[in-house]
Amino acid sequence: MNMDINIIERLVRQVVNEVEETKVIDCGAVSDTNVYGIYQSMDEAVLASTAAQKNLVDCKMSDRQKFVDAIRKTVLKQENLERISRDAVDETGIGHYEHKLLKNRLAAEKTPGIEDLHTSAQSGDDGLTLIEYCPFGVAGAITPTTNPTETVINNSISMIAAGNTVVFSPHPRAKQVTITLITMLNKALEAVGAPQDLITTIKEPSIENTNRMMEHPNVRMLVATGGPSIVHKVMSSGKKAIGAGAGNPPVVVDETADIEKAAADIVNGSSFDNNVPCIAEKEVFAVNEIFDRLVVGMEKNGAYKLEDPSLIQKLLEMTTNEKGAPKVQFVGKSAAYILDKLGVRVDQNVKLIIMEVDEKHHFVTEEMMMPILPLVRVNDVDEAIDCAHIAEHGNRHTAMIHSKNIDKISKMARVMETTIFVKNAPSYAGIGFGGEGCTTFTIAGPTGEGLTSAKSFCRKRRCTMVDALHIR
Ligand code: NAD
Repeated sequence: MNMDINIIERLVRQVVNEVEETKVIDCGAVSDTNVYGIYQSMDEAVLASTAAQKNLVDCKMSDRQKFVDAIRKTVLKQENLERISRDAVDETGIGHYEHKLLKNRLAAEKTPGIEDLHTSAQSGDDGLTLIEYCPFGVAGAITPTTNPTETVINNSISMIAAGNTVVFSPHPRAKQVTITLITMLNKALEAVGAPQDLITTIKEPSIENTNRMMEHPNVRMLVATGGPSIVHKVMSSGKKAIGAGAGNPPVVVDETADIEKAAADIVNGSSFDNNVPCIAEKEVFAVNEIFDRLVVGMEKNGAYKLEDPSLIQKLLEMTTNEKGAPKVQFVGKSAAYILDKLGVRVDQNVKLIIMEVDEKHHFVTEEMMMPILPLVRVNDVDEAIDCAHIAEHGNRHTAMIHSKNIDKISKMARVMETTIFVKNAPSYAGIGFGGEGCTTFTIAGPTGEGLTSAKSFCRKRRCTMVDALHIR
């Protein structure tokens, strides 16, 4: 029988492609005793991670991409997305289910993978030098209650793409949902043939276990996403540390802004996930000329204005403890819930509580992480920028402006020095939700990596070949 050579070639290619697609990558041992990364002790979790990292470096870059794709696919499966989002709200008592769905989806879809690791090269008479992003080894990641699953998804994708394995130390109040998610991810990784234990954690997270993880000699890099205490702690560890700390993002609104849009954007950004994101609008400085119009616009978009000074004082006493810190039982609760406890009955559509206060008010200076947004009336945009700078406390985290005056926009960006600066949009545009660019849930201001991605968790290494391999 005579068969066209092209047909034979096409058939062979088709068969090879089909085999490739179904192939399980053999770059790590999978044993029968897989506990899907959940260990009794921190030492076991770190040792398992150490063994896994040795297997991971033997995998090809395309394998790493396959592992990242498996994480994305697993999180984006609707029943998984709903489960982790629901469980996160139920277990921590923090946040808004529909917004958790969006945040988890964002982490899965827009965290960069291996494409983030650009090799650079220099060539000349002396040969060729390559500079490549290489793994650190085992990373120890501490995650917050406010983004318990988003941070695990985001850090896992970035760290595995970088060739690291990761041991998570979650907040004890987010223990179960973290275990559920890590088990889910490890099952998916096993199904595509990944080395066992790329992601590990412990059954009972605690401060002692976090300390043990930080001290363990096999843990080469620490990444803390949380408040000032844990960021300070990892930065004092003597190890490579990435600190993603607190913010208190201010918003400036001047007379040139589109006030209707500014009002809607501020309410949407500030009420997102009940104001727990570290990037969310936490206080507003608006110029007198448009202040009242801005308030009306915000009310139209779901804000409820508290007028009575005694009620504002009562709200302050109800939501803060003796140290002035936000009370845990109100962090990430809805506006309707908080108002109900204050004795004010409102419709469930109310998303945000607003009030006019001065720039020294505790609601302005404290990162409250609940849908309470103080508004300060100022004379002009320069005063607004000065106040915003003071209210941000030098965290250099995130700030927003609503203005069409490019000189003032540029001035504020320079004065604030924040990692994220958003112009004429809700805060979340700054992490790639409705704004250009990738996402992250670990925004490392204190240690300077900024919006972290795979390359943030790498060592830069140089490989030099003398007198050869340059081809010009
Ligand atoms: P948190 O600081 O209370 O806890 C964060 C993590 O650190 C938890 O796992 C906790 O168990 C651990 N931890 C805290 N203090 C510790 C200590 N002394 N020793 C050992 N472990 C310790 O913060 P949270 O309430 O869970 O999260 C909210 C905070 O995190 C806010 O300040 C928010 O701005 C910040 N945050 C920052 C980013 C960012 O990317 N920059 C992202 C999310 C949250």
